[in-house]
Amino acid sequence: MADQTLAKFVNERSILTLLRLNGGASRATISRALSLTPATISRLTSDMLKRGLLRETLALAVPVGEREPGRPGIGVAVNPAGAYFLGVEIGVSVMRFVLIDLCAEVVEMREETLDHHVSADESVAAIMRIYRGFAADPRYLGKINSGGVTVPGLVTNDGFIVNLPILGWRDTNLRSLLCAIPEIPFSIENNANAAAFGAVYTQPDTQGPCTVFLKLGTGCGGAAIVNGRLLRGADGTGLELGHINLGDPGARCSCGQKGCLETWVNLAALSRSYLGREPGPGDDIAALPATVASACAEGDAVARRAVDSLAAHLSTGLASLVNIFNPSQIILGGAMRPVLNCCLADLRRDVAGRIIPGTRMPDIQISRLGAFECATGAACVAHHKAFDISNVEINAAPVVEPAAEQA
Ligand SMILES: [Zn+2]
Repeated sequence: MADQTLAKFVNERSILTLLRLNGGASRATISRALSLTPATISRLTSDMLKRGLLRETLALAVPVGEREPGRPGIGVAVNPAGAYFLGVEIGVSVMRFVLIDLCAEVVEMREETLDHHVSADESVAAIMRIYRGFAADPRYLGKINSGGVTVPGLVTNDGFIVNLPILGWRDTNLRSLLCAIPEIPFSIENNANAAAFGAVYTQPDTQGPCTVFLKLGTGCGGAAIVNGRLLRGADGTGLELGHINLGDPGARCSCGQKGCLETWVNLAALSRSYLGREPGPGDDIAALPATVASACAEGDAVARRAVDSLAAHLSTGLASLVNIFNPSQIILGGAMRPVLNCCLADLRRDVAGRIIPGTRMPDIQISRLGAFECATGAACVAHHKAFDISNVEINAAPVVEPAAEQA
């Protein structure tokens, strides 16, 4: 990329990120915040207005502690309708789809449940159908920039699926299958990574320097975000935090070992502790956390013991994670949310009592994204790839330009 093109590319993305996180600003404020000359900001914002990426606004968001010189003028804000991003979650027998706009706000949600485990070919056919449905909508016509897809298992840095035991997929090249939808590029992400990324990306007030995330449901996925970027390890398959060993053997884990955190905090563990057995084919396992949480609220002793067992093992795992990562915050997501809400105070107290004295106690909170957290996160990964400057590398191929710009 030539120096001038690179500078424009970086500056445009800096403007979009600043405005997305602040809501809107005058050109003078942008100029000061990004240390760029007023002439440069004027030229860039005028071009971005023409391309539909920005809109003019009278509602100025003045950064705290700063005063706008002179009378308020017309500012600029991100135009939500400037571009859209598709997010897809491939679950065990469910697929969820979201469309987010250029402000990273969800504008569409779809859910499709299946009576069997979804195959790779089936999932690509469903993605194609949903994408083309959105793409034909006059509101989104020509504006869907890119997509993100999540799967519940190991994904390498280049989008190759190493192992999806939950779905029975192994050595699947999902990236190559997605070439059947040539209209937009797709990124492929582990589901916990995406949910973690979405939780941080959509909540600017939660963006601390280091976030550790656990997704508790059928399994226990993990992720860590440091300075806005996912930690991945050498190949991209790291941060499998559900497989840290607690030394308490219990059930055999999906990884083949015994003693993994996952086997004490997932839905099967809740079934064992509350129902007294492994989940059976007729059990509505996804509804179990809500059932246990409401029984617990009514004073049911069995439900309380099930919640306490989960909280005790989870706090052991979290204390280790605090000692390893020194996170500023821990976010807990996934289907276990209702149960976690019952024991959040216990978790905070137990973790605080077990970490190395003097270590910062992170804020522990429940993800606000809900059931669509993976799909939303996948869309946020696509948004980030297209518009955040942390992806810019000298001599790297430019990321996809927004569809509005190509027109
Ligand atoms: Zn394991």
